[in-house]
Formats: sequence, C-alpha cells, structure tokens
Amino acid sequence: MISIANNLTQVSTAITDACLSANRSIDEVQLLAVSKTRTAAQLRELHCAGQVHFGENYLQEALDKIAELSQLPLIWHFIGPIQSNKTRAIAENFNWVHSVDRLKIAKRLAEQRPGHLPPLNICIQVNISAEANKAGCSIEETAALIGQISQLPQLKVRGLMAIPRATQVTVEQQQAFAALAQLLSDCQQQYPSLDTLSMGMSADIVPAIEQGATIVRVGTALFGPRIYPNTPA
Ligand SMILES: *Cc1c(COP(=O)(O)O)cnc(C)c1O
Repeated sequence: MISIANNLTQVSTAITDACLSANRSIDEVQLLAVSKTRTAAQLRELHCAGQVHFGENYLQEALDKIAELSQLPLIWHFIGPIQSNKTRAIAENFNWVHSVDRLKIAKRLAEQRPGHLPPLNICIQVNISAEANKAGCSIEETAALIGQISQLPQLKVRGLMAIPRATQVTVEQQQAFAALAQLLSDCQQQYPSLDTLSMGMSADIVPAIEQGATIVRVGTALFGPRIYPNTPA
C-alpha cells in the first residue's frame, strides 16, 4: 500500500536529487504540501511524517482545517484566487500568500493583518505565459507592483509565484521557469531582499528546481489524485 509518508519520502528524494544535479544546496528548496480537498486527518498524517508547510486554495475549507489542526505547529500558505471579501480571514490566519496580483488586495491584507502577528509573507503571482483570463500580473507590471506593495505595513514581499501554461514539453516548462527566474533576478536589482521563487508542481518539480525554485507546491504526488465533489478548479 502506498502511504502518504512513503509519498513524502519519494517527493523529498526527488527534490534532493534535483538539487544535487542542479548544484544547489538542499536547504534552498522548501516543499509546500498543497492540501486542497484533503481531510484534516490526511494533513495530520503528513505532518507526523515531518511536513510543516501546507498550501490551501479555498478559504472556508482552509479555515476549517486550520481550526482543527491548531495544536500542530503548521505554517499555512494561501495559494488560491483572492476575492476582496476574503482578505481579512486570510490576513488573520495565514503566514504566506502566494497569489497577490493587484495592489487593491495587498492594501486590504496590509490593513487587516493583526498588529500582534509578524508581517504576512507575500509572493506576487505573475501570468508568466501571458495566458488570456489567467490570474497574475504581467511581466511588465511586476516591478512596479513590488515597489508599491513594499511600502505597505505588515507585509513582507518575498518574491514571485507562477503557474505556467500546462505543457508536457520539457523545453517549454524550462523556458517558463527560466523567465520567472529572470524576472526575479531583474527585480532583485532594485529589491535585494526578495528571496522566493514559488514554482513547480507535482509534474514539473525537476525543471522548476533546475531553474531556481525555492518553494515547490506539490499536491497530487503527496496525496494521490484529487477528487472534487462538484466542479474542478
Ligand atoms: C493545486 C495546486 C498545486 C498542486 O498541484 P499538483 O499537480 O496536485 O501538485 C500547486 N499550485 C497551485 C497554485 C495549485 O492550485
């Protein structure tokens, strides 16, 4: 039987191998377990095997799990689309947000982040493959948006996140990840404290790590295929 703990070992090994072959140190790459649609019990099982960082896409589902697992020292990342009326609960309950792509949302998160908590870590989501109707700011907008968000209180801009156009073609995966890495490096000229590249999912962690990912977001390879009650997201 394949267990969640076995899957974690396999994914961790794949990350280690990719780091070695890319000549990178293994502690440069963090595994974010994407736990949307998974039960609190499954998260607990993965935590028992050593996983600390969890990523969620749907707010209400996430809040239920955060409450249920509040005794565990977990670090929560919000990685889904953000509507304005959801910002307060995100600001109050998460440590990271990877999906900020406009100033209005960042301003609300800054205003609503409770003062007793450390700054909320922010990644700017970039529509790196310039797809129509896809979340993320454009490459051209990114540096200015970082500049504006950097001035807001209670937020710490950490870097960039992207979900490239889905493709099986390795060279296309590499190009998209390389483009995001180049954009981060351009932005670091002006904002040297940026240190995060959130890119790579179950199917493409190896090219993502080769191109400089510091956080890989992995769901299926840890928990198995997702089964959605109604509509897929
Ligand atoms: C669901 C999701 C993932 C994980 O995808 P898998 O293919 O299951 O690894 C990663 N990032 C984001 C933003 C997601 O929504």
